[in-house]
Amino acid sequence: MIPLPPCKKCLLREMAEGTDALLEVKKALQRLPEKDLAPEEVRERRLACCRGCESLSAGTCLLCGCYVELRAALRQGGCPHVPDLWDR
Ligand code: SF4
Repeated sequence: MIPLPPCKKCLLREMAEGTDALLEVKKALQRLPEKDLAPEEVRERRLACCRGCESLSAGTCLLCGCYVELRAALRQGGCPHVPDLWDR
């Protein structure tokens, strides 16, 4: 069977091959105090923007190199696009 290429428009949590990276993202977030994390509804709203963005590639933002699931979870996180696509 020919392996499938990574899904360019998927988040890590949606990709089988993103499992290791997703675990690292979760570990990094667990080390942060709650006050530094964005509420769940904010994270999901941000990630919905990322999923429709041409700069998303296999769970990574091509403008900054971050895993979007990490960036979106940070209270002070922002979208590197100008203008900020999360604020629309
Ligand atoms: S540019 Fe913004 S909306 Fe697009 S993938 Fe990066 S963080 Fe997400």
